[in-house]
Amino acid sequence: MTCLKPEGTAPADEPTDGLDFNPYEAMRPRAPGDIPQRVRNGARVKANDVAPEGVYRPDYNILTPHMRSPDYVQMSTAAAITLGITRGRMYRCSCSRCLNLLLTYPEGCRANCAYCGLARHREAERDYADRNFIRVDWPAVPTEEVVEIVARNGENTPFHRMCISMITHPSSDADTVTVLKTWTARIPPERIPVSILSNPTTMTRGDVRTLRDLGAEIFTVALDAATPELFDRTRGKGVQSPHSWRKYWEILHDARDIFGPQKFGAHIIVGMGESEHDVLCLVQTLVDLGGHSHMFCFFPERGSLMDHLPATPRDQWRRVQLARYLIDYRGLRVEHMTFDGEGRVTDFGLPQGELDAIVDSGIPFRTSGCPGKFADDISACDRPYGDSPPSDIASYPFQPNKTDLRKVRRQLALPKRESTP
Ligand code: SF4
Repeated sequence: MTCLKPEGTAPADEPTDGLDFNPYEAMRPRAPGDIPQRVRNGARVKANDVAPEGVYRPDYNILTPHMRSPDYVQMSTAAAITLGITRGRMYRCSCSRCLNLLLTYPEGCRANCAYCGLARHREAERDYADRNFIRVDWPAVPTEEVVEIVARNGENTPFHRMCISMITHPSSDADTVTVLKTWTARIPPERIPVSILSNPTTMTRGDVRTLRDLGAEIFTVALDAATPELFDRTRGKGVQSPHSWRKYWEILHDARDIFGPQKFGAHIIVGMGESEHDVLCLVQTLVDLGGHSHMFCFFPERGSLMDHLPATPRDQWRRVQLARYLIDYRGLRVEHMTFDGEGRVTDFGLPQGELDAIVDSGIPFRTSGCPGKFADDISACDRPYGDSPPSDIASYPFQPNKTDLRKVRRQLALPKRESTP
């Protein structure tokens, strides 16, 4: 099958109930509401102007302090637990291998992506530092304090990678540079390599080069949407958001030229209305360019413009996870696979015995992202429960055991294995 849009998509407004995929017509975001002038651009936080005192843990019941990058960054709950900044335990995970840092401003992200908890339309309801993002809270911490703790741990650090997540804000290009310089001044990139999750909308080719020259190892672009139509609907004009497919691809090509093979990639969210064939063609394009894809299973983030929509059915997600792994790491091509009229994978293009061995390894079903120190195909970025609840895991933040793999095989409708109890 070629990379053309498959025939026979579902009719408009067809409910997803009973379907084993999320069709385009059903995955329409809500329109963003009007935001009163008095709360726009972080006005509430700036008017209160509460001075921050060390770590801030998101709490909607107290006044949010006035915190701003590069002096402050937010970090995932998993990273905060691993760093010892927040107390807590994660289901079946002892720590996170990736320190995800997020730039922070009272004005927040100025984009309005429909699936995102950080989106601008939320400013009427929640101050930026209190917003949930990929299902969790993001404590805010002085940047110097983060660097000090990690530097003090030296070679004993649990982290295999650090990632700076830019957001759409006029200061984010310059502040990413400052945070990166602050980090590399104390922590050698050989000890903890750095990735950049970029914001192409405000960036130039020169910005990409600067980040590479300052020691970043991998550069990623969060395409998120797998097709131009879906991109425009969820991140562009469809939701009064400034992003464009063309600009994202321009910066992705710059990253390929500047960072080189295997050192750039794109994030893709699966189940927002694209077909499996669409997303796997994109995976193939990225591999052909020399890069990688990092996959996320769509989850209706609380407070987002898509919070009324269904999470990606597990069978759709597992098929895409497995096929993506085969293309990214096992040399298979999308042309080796077969698809039905709805674009669903019907054959992965491998003899059953070989496919079984790869499924049994469990690696295709782990969280995907930039590599850590265990293996090239095992992501440092484990994002525990960022795309599902622990009760129905989409991306395994740990090595799945035999019970997990039995469930995965059921979700893939693969026959039970003798060796898999
Ligand atoms: S640019 Fe990123 S952080 Fe901002 S709304 Fe879009 S997905 Fe969320």
